Amino acid sequence: MRKATGGLAAIAFGLGFAGLVAAPIALVAHLKEGLPEAVREKSVLSHARALQRRIVTLDSHVDIPPDYTKVPEHDPGRLTGMQVDLPKMHRGGMDAAFFIVYVGQGPRTPEGYEAAKDAALLKFTAIRRMAEELYPDEIELGVRAQDVARIHASGKKAALIGIENGYVIGKDISLLEKYYDLGARYMTLAHIGHNDICDSSIPLSHLGDAEIEHGGLSAFGREVVAEMNRLGMMVDVSHISRDAMMEALRVSAAPVIASHSAVSVLGNHPRNLSDEQMEALARTGGVMQVVAFSAYVKVDAARAAEERGLRSRVARAAGDAHFSYIKHGKLPAFVNGMKEIGQRYDRASLEEFVDHIDHAVKVMGIDHVGISSDFGGGGGVKGWDNAAETVNVTAELIRRGYSDADIEKLWGGNLLRVWGEVEEVAMRLAERQEAGADAQTGEEDFLPEEESIAPAEHALGPNGG
Ligand SMILES: [Zn+2]
Repeated sequence: MRKATGGLAAIAFGLGFAGLVAAPIALVAHLKEGLPEAVREKSVLSHARALQRRIVTLDSHVDIPPDYTKVPEHDPGRLTGMQVDLPKMHRGGMDAAFFIVYVGQGPRTPEGYEAAKDAALLKFTAIRRMAEELYPDEIELGVRAQDVARIHASGKKAALIGIENGYVIGKDISLLEKYYDLGARYMTLAHIGHNDICDSSIPLSHLGDAEIEHGGLSAFGREVVAEMNRLGMMVDVSHISRDAMMEALRVSAAPVIASHSAVSVLGNHPRNLSDEQMEALARTGGVMQVVAFSAYVKVDAARAAEERGLRSRVARAAGDAHFSYIKHGKLPAFVNGMKEIGQRYDRASLEEFVDHIDHAVKVMGIDHVGISSDFGGGGGVKGWDNAAETVNVTAELIRRGYSDADIEKLWGGNLLRVWGEVEEVAMRLAERQEAGADAQTGEEDFLPEEESIAPAEHALGPNGG
């Protein structure tokens, strides 16, 4: 007894003031351990809700249908069958989302490029219509990283815009600025299938893709990255091949993002990122937004083979050589077939999804990881299947011991930091260009060495100096 008291006194003495602060916290933690499961669970959920009221909760990848805002079932102001609408965002405490201008890969012909551009413009119009015409009191378009905190403080949701698939610019680099002016702040360089910018992690045989086409970025792709750096648009390396990603990290003057990717150590899928890729992304100051896409979180080869079989059967029955989600995705044979397969295989759980976050944090550090759903584009896991369930993710992070500050970083803090850095690089490139133009006319000397921007600067991100 004496010994124990003496030991405690010595610890308290040794810790000094810190000990006085730490002791009550330890006591509370100890009491919580003794609480019945249900009570403890209730306190985790109320902690999660309170935390989300304070921080910005940002989802970096939400897809929209082509007729978004045009038909009642795709009206974001109503409670719809979509995984994300305004009522669900309110309910789950989702404050901000990158809504995605996605266009699937098609033929690289003048007609193909024209159709891709039209499809992209339709989605830009729909997202802006939601924020500017239909629900301006509820949601506002953000075009600068700092807009998000301001919009959140005003009590509104923030709508941000990302492009998925550089196919939408075809070979016309001037379209990047046009899309930037419409609000696009990131662009995924490629989707499934190679394009003129780079190789995809998944070639499309029916478009005639070879396994490897460019071996990374094409010369045009390197120009695209430079132009995105100049504009202040984030380069997104999700979906692209390993070599294309590594080259993008090398040539980009600003840190890059993976807007929706999972971890390949936990799910061996060509679309997921290896530890090597994740380390390189962190080293260059970038961020990986771990995606809650069941088939990437929990890879099941037998299920994938059955789904492939179903797709080709449905396409053949419709008289087509290849399956297309747009053309065949709503056919009863496909919908029912997927439902039947789904009943026999388990989808990934919230816990399995958070395992991917844990692994990414272990490899990359807490400053380089974020969260994305891919809702509307196939995303969702058991427990986080729509925006209304967002608080479940926060609760699971709390259960795993992440601090409030960590969770704030994961829920968009890191992504917003990278976005701010991308804006800064654009500003400095513009200054340098101006100084260069002045130097040419003999008005001013070139910038001193330390103010110039070299890609190597970002090879030493926050993690490496
Ligand atoms: Zn995607």
